[in-house]
Amino acid sequence: METHLPEALLATDEGRAIERALRTCVHCGFCNAACPTYQLLGDEADGPRGRIYLIKTALERGAASAGTRAHLDRCLHCLACQAACPSGVPYGELLALALPRIERLAPPSRARRALARLIAAALGRRGRARTLLAAARAVRPLLPPGLRRRVPAPGTVPPWPPARHAARAVLPAGCVQEAAAPGIDAAAARLLDALGISPVRPDGDGGCCGALHDHLGQREAARALARRNVRAWAPLLADGAPLLMTASGCAAHVRRYGALLAGDPDLAEDAARVAAAVRDPVELLEPHAGRLAPAPGVPRRIACHEPCTQRHALGLAGRLTALLARAGFETVPVPEPHLCCGSAGAWSLLHPRLAAGLRARKLERLSAGSPGLVATANIGCLLHLQAAAPVPVRHWLELVEAR
Ligand code: SF4
Ligand code: SF4
Repeated sequence: METHLPEALLATDEGRAIERALRTCVHCGFCNAACPTYQLLGDEADGPRGRIYLIKTALERGAASAGTRAHLDRCLHCLACQAACPSGVPYGELLALALPRIERLAPPSRARRALARLIAAALGRRGRARTLLAAARAVRPLLPPGLRRRVPAPGTVPPWPPARHAARAVLPAGCVQEAAAPGIDAAAARLLDALGISPVRPDGDGGCCGALHDHLGQREAARALARRNVRAWAPLLADGAPLLMTASGCAAHVRRYGALLAGDPDLAEDAARVAAAVRDPVELLEPHAGRLAPAPGVPRRIACHEPCTQRHALGLAGRLTALLARAGFETVPVPEPHLCCGSAGAWSLLHPRLAAGLRARKLERLSAGSPGLVATANIGCLLHLQAAAPVPVRHWLELVEAR
């Protein structure tokens, strides 16, 4: 794609990276077939090719309309387009570099900023997320059915095993997941322990990895959280222990810590080390697949929902489904596995109607093989799908045990 970006922008490293990304696009449109908003709305400007063109035009003109802003806001950042692009356009990097500039040209409305602040404040801290959840559970019977199903019931949390192995994996607690479904990390801890790896909980992190804030455009808050977490986690990784993130959305975001803090003279090196240490549980447990089996009472016939963050951002497409099949599950075929379910961090809260449309489409595909259960790998997808799913939706770590 031909570009004419302003000289002042091209004088910066970021500007040159934006130009490289834009010029890699050959306008073929293959990415549109993989894009959930294009599939849903059928508008070129709500597909990746159109969004790339909008970014280019806004940066060249130094001006962006509210319409441009709305089309870019509707992007889920799912990266299905990046995975589908034959030309190798780094769409995620382009968004990360271009969006802050476009937001300065067309700032979000006051109402939108207030909503973003409210969501981040309510969910981005473990303590507050717990309080909010406790309040929602207290009034659960009074809520409308759609909302009621979004409030997870409290479950029993198995005890955390004592540290007894030389091999260790660092397992940060996170925010929403630890409040809504603490059984997931407890299941991961028991599984690791049975496989000869002791899970370690870091002190000093307050919860969120910053993915939620980043998604909401609160980039300084996201950086502050990254700094706090790097300080808490880096010392625990000195002996080469992996940093296990049981929510793929968090894993994908923490993998970006190196890039996020590249300009920080004190933390850049540690941030890169933290990012390199991130492992999705699939990566850590694949070598042990022969020792995994379905947990008692779990249906054997399941549909696997691989989150976009796991498939596209972490590059693990197909790996969770294959691992669960090796563990003894019958995994039913799921059409359109690349299409987002509509959760996408805080996106489902900001675009509830579109999110419901994507969820309905995803649930139809997941139900095609009549599974007894849906397995997934990200708490956001789990809570979003569970609100309308005809069968239970569970994190896969709660479905397996070590033989
Ligand atoms: S598939 Fe890649 S090269 Fe083709 S239009 Fe989309 S981003 Fe551009
Ligand atoms: S990131 Fe997802 S929603 Fe955004 S343009 Fe790409 S495929 Fe479409």
